[in-house]
Amino acid sequence: MDNLILSVDFDRTLFSLGEFPEVGKRRLANRLVAWYVRRKKRQGWTIILNTLREPGKGLEQAVEACRAYGIPIDLVNSNDPRQIKKWGESRKIGCSLAIDDRNIGLVGWLLRKLG
Ligand SMILES: [Mg+2]
Repeated sequence: MDNLILSVDFDRTLFSLGEFPEVGKRRLANRLVAWYVRRKKRQGWTIILNTLREPGKGLEQAVEACRAYGIPIDLVNSNDPRQIKKWGESRKIGCSLAIDDRNIGLVGWLLRKLG
Protein backbone atom coordinates (compact mmCIF):
# COMPACT_ATOMS: atom_id res chain seq x y z
CA MET A 1 0.00 0.00 0.00
CA ASP A 2 1.16 3.50 -0.77
CA ASN A 3 2.24 5.69 2.07
CA LEU A 4 -0.83 7.76 2.84
CA ILE A 5 -0.28 11.28 4.06
CA LEU A 6 -2.64 13.75 5.70
CA SER A 7 -1.65 17.42 5.63
CA VAL A 8 -3.38 19.51 8.27
CA ASP A 9 -3.30 23.26 8.78
CA PHE A 10 -3.07 24.75 12.27
CA ASP A 11 -4.73 28.16 12.62
CA ARG A 12 -8.51 28.07 12.17
CA THR A 13 -8.27 24.34 11.43
CA LEU A 14 -6.92 22.46 14.48
CA PHE A 15 -7.47 25.50 16.71
CA SER A 16 -9.40 28.73 16.25
CA LEU A 17 -7.37 31.84 15.54
CA GLY A 18 -6.00 33.23 18.80
CA GLU A 19 -4.03 36.34 19.58
CA PHE A 20 -0.95 35.44 17.54
CA PRO A 21 1.37 33.77 18.45
CA GLU A 22 -0.89 32.36 21.15
CA VAL A 23 -3.08 29.40 20.25
CA GLY A 24 -6.81 29.87 19.93
CA LYS A 25 -9.59 27.86 21.52
CA ARG A 26 -10.76 24.47 20.34
CA ARG A 27 -14.24 24.85 19.00
CA LEU A 28 -16.45 22.04 17.75
CA ALA A 29 -15.15 22.12 14.18
CA ASN A 30 -11.55 22.08 15.45
CA ARG A 31 -12.29 19.11 17.71
CA LEU A 32 -13.76 17.24 14.75
CA VAL A 33 -10.59 17.87 12.74
CA ALA A 34 -8.46 16.62 15.65
CA TRP A 35 -10.65 13.50 15.88
CA TYR A 36 -10.15 12.88 12.14
CA VAL A 37 -6.38 13.35 12.43
CA ARG A 38 -6.19 10.83 15.28
CA ARG A 39 -8.33 8.41 13.28
CA LYS A 40 -6.05 8.65 10.23
CA LYS A 41 -2.98 8.19 12.43
CA ARG A 42 -4.50 5.01 13.89
CA GLN A 43 -5.08 3.81 10.31
CA GLY A 44 -1.37 4.19 9.62
CA TRP A 45 -1.32 7.52 7.83
CA THR A 46 1.56 9.95 8.18
CA ILE A 47 0.43 13.31 9.58
CA ILE A 48 2.10 16.53 8.44
CA LEU A 49 1.39 19.82 10.21
CA ASN A 50 1.35 22.31 7.34
CA THR A 51 1.36 25.82 8.77
CA LEU A 52 2.62 29.29 7.93
CA ARG A 53 4.00 29.50 11.48
CA GLU A 54 7.79 29.49 11.56
CA PRO A 55 10.36 28.76 14.28
CA GLY A 56 10.35 31.72 16.66
CA LYS A 57 7.11 32.94 15.11
CA GLY A 58 4.49 30.81 16.76
CA LEU A 59 5.52 27.38 15.55
CA GLU A 60 6.67 26.20 18.98
CA GLN A 61 3.29 27.13 20.51
CA ALA A 62 1.49 25.21 17.76
CA VAL A 63 3.56 22.06 18.17
CA GLU A 64 3.14 22.21 21.96
CA ALA A 65 -0.64 22.63 21.61
CA CYS A 66 -0.82 19.55 19.38
CA ARG A 67 1.21 17.58 21.92
CA ALA A 68 -0.92 18.82 24.84
CA TYR A 69 -4.17 17.78 23.14
CA GLY A 70 -2.91 14.44 21.83
CA ILE A 71 -2.97 15.44 18.18
CA PRO A 72 -0.37 13.18 16.53
CA ILE A 73 2.07 15.04 14.28
CA ASP A 74 4.83 13.18 12.43
CA LEU A 75 6.34 16.05 10.45
CA VAL A 76 6.15 19.84 10.61
CA ASN A 77 6.27 21.90 7.41
CA SER A 78 8.31 19.16 5.82
CA ASN A 79 7.69 16.52 3.22
CA ASP A 80 7.81 12.83 4.05
CA PRO A 81 11.41 11.60 3.54
CA ARG A 82 10.06 8.71 1.42
CA GLN A 83 8.34 11.21 -0.86
CA ILE A 84 11.50 13.32 -1.09
CA LYS A 85 13.49 10.23 -2.03
CA LYS A 86 10.98 9.36 -4.73
CA TRP A 87 10.11 12.81 -6.12
CA GLY A 88 12.80 15.15 -4.88
CA GLU A 89 12.52 18.09 -2.51
CA SER A 90 9.68 20.54 -3.01
CA ARG A 91 8.34 23.58 -1.19
CA LYS A 92 4.84 22.22 -1.65
CA ILE A 93 3.72 19.69 0.93
CA GLY A 94 2.78 16.50 -0.85
CA CYS A 95 -0.16 14.63 0.59
CA SER A 96 -3.05 12.29 -0.11
CA LEU A 97 -5.55 14.53 1.67
CA ALA A 98 -5.36 18.05 3.07
CA ILE A 99 -7.50 19.81 5.68
CA ASP A 100 -7.36 23.59 5.71
CA ASP A 101 -9.85 26.31 6.57
CA ARG A 102 -9.02 27.85 3.18
CA ASN A 103 -10.41 24.84 1.34
CA ILE A 104 -13.26 25.41 -1.05
CA GLY A 105 -16.27 23.37 -0.09
CA LEU A 106 -18.13 22.27 3.00
CA VAL A 107 -15.16 21.48 5.23
CA GLY A 108 -13.50 24.81 4.59
CA TRP A 109 -16.80 26.63 5.03
CA LEU A 110 -17.50 24.86 8.34
CA LEU A 111 -14.02 25.64 9.64
CA ARG A 112 -14.36 29.29 8.68
CA LYS A 113 -17.83 29.54 10.25
CA LEU A 114 -17.48 27.33 13.29
CA GLY A 115 -13.76 26.81 13.86
MG1 LIG B 1 -5.59 28.31 8.49
